[in-house]
Amino acid sequence: HRAKKNRNEVCLFRSDIETGYLRRVHIEQRLRGALEPNLITMAYQTQVDANGRVIGMEALARWQDEELGYVPPYEFVSVAEASGLMVQLGDYVLDHSLADFGQLPRSPEFPLELSVNISVLQIMQRGFAETVLEKLRHYRVAPGELTLEITETLFMSRHSAILPVLHRLRDAGIRLSMDDFGTGYSSLSLLRSLPIDELKVDKTFVDHINEDQQARNMVESIVAIAHNHGMELVAEGVEQKEQVKTLIAMGCRRFQGFYFSRPVSIDQIKETLFASVE
Ligand code: C2E
Ligand code: MG
Ligand code: MG
Ligand code: MG
Repeated sequence: HRAKKNRNEVCLFRSDIETGYLRRVHIEQRLRGALEPNLITMAYQTQVDANGRVIGMEALARWQDEELGYVPPYEFVSVAEASGLMVQLGDYVLDHSLADFGQLPRSPEFPLELSVNISVLQIMQRGFAETVLEKLRHYRVAPGELTLEITETLFMSRHSAILPVLHRLRDAGIRLSMDDFGTGYSSLSLLRSLPIDELKVDKTFVDHINEDQQARNMVESIVAIAHNHGMELVAEGVEQKEQVKTLIAMGCRRFQGFYFSRPVSIDQIKETLFASVE
């Protein structure tokens, strides 16, 4: 009995080292060295409309490190935020994804949108809106083609500090999206005062939409909020056809998830786009 307990304690200690402070220090050190030589890559996950037509894509950062192996973005983004690297990482992501997107064929008959995740720390950086507009000009992407995604939790925690910047971005034509919607604590009155164009229904609700009445109620409420406030709605993490059917019946018109496509390289995106034009 006692030996068993000790073994558990040893395991706990080990996992502390691997996932705790030391790992974060290691990630920070490797991340500092990964930006300059372009070792972070971008993957793109398509967004489709109710007919399955590609309407846009979300840029997702990928990092395969020589020492650490694959480090998931939620982990290195959080380290970047805590260590003063987030603005540099955010610039990197914007530069690389806008450069990729700028090469894609777009036309008024075949419009596309690029969604990029940004951290509140980027928005709070002096001159953020001007930096983004300058990058759009440089990569020849129209402001209306770019959507910036901000997670609901962060949005709410800093809304007064970032509100003027959000308006500046919005006035310039950039779309703003609230990511992981439903997991935070937005008050409806606050939501109404924010310049938001789109809500992304969090995957956790989509996951259970066909089994769980509560998840269904939640999605129904989110659809109503979006439509009553003139916002678009994107369902994320869609993995099954049955989920798409239910979401369409509920009034959702934009989808993202493994059912349609996993995040892929920009070259694979180009192939998909050419295939769908032919
Ligand atoms: P997110 O913005 O909510 O992105 C969606 C995440 O769900 C992605 O995970 C995507 O791969 C995953 N996903 C999409 N569809 C499905 C599905 O059908 N099933 C399952 N199981 N997963 C699905 P990923 O790429 O690991 O990113 C996790 C989070 O890390 C993102 O959540 C975002 O908050 C953050 N992130 C990723 N790239 C960046 C970035 O460049 N900058 C910032 N600031 N954050 C980023
Ligand atoms: Mg996102
Ligand atoms: Mg999300
Ligand atoms: Mg997320």
